[in-house]
Amino acid sequence: MTSIAMAIRTTSKKKEPSGLTRTCSACGKAFPATLEYFYSTGRKPGQLRGDCKACHSALVAADLRRKYQDAEYRKGLRKQRKERYWSDPAYRKRCQDDSRERARARAERKREE
Ligand SMILES: [Zn+2]
Repeated sequence: MTSIAMAIRTTSKKKEPSGLTRTCSACGKAFPATLEYFYSTGRKPGQLRGDCKACHSALVAADLRRKYQDAEYRKGLRKQRKERYWSDPAYRKRCQDDSRERARARAERKREE
């Protein structure tokens, strides 16, 4: 009786209780099933993606790189931005602030060199 209970405890300790760890579908490594290691699916609260953060970021980056090699995609993106720039005053202001900020950072870097 006692030995069985002990055996169950040891196995569950070895395997770690299910639901607490999650195996990444891309790299196959197990991580704690938390938002620290996995992105949320954004569909249901608490629902995590199947791939870990590192794999998902790599995937997104690779996807973006692939898309950016497509001239049509870049053209579409430019058009989209341009349209938004002229139709969304808040976005326009943000763009202007951003470019001012970038110019300032550039000037600062120059000074430090
Ligand atoms: Zn992974």
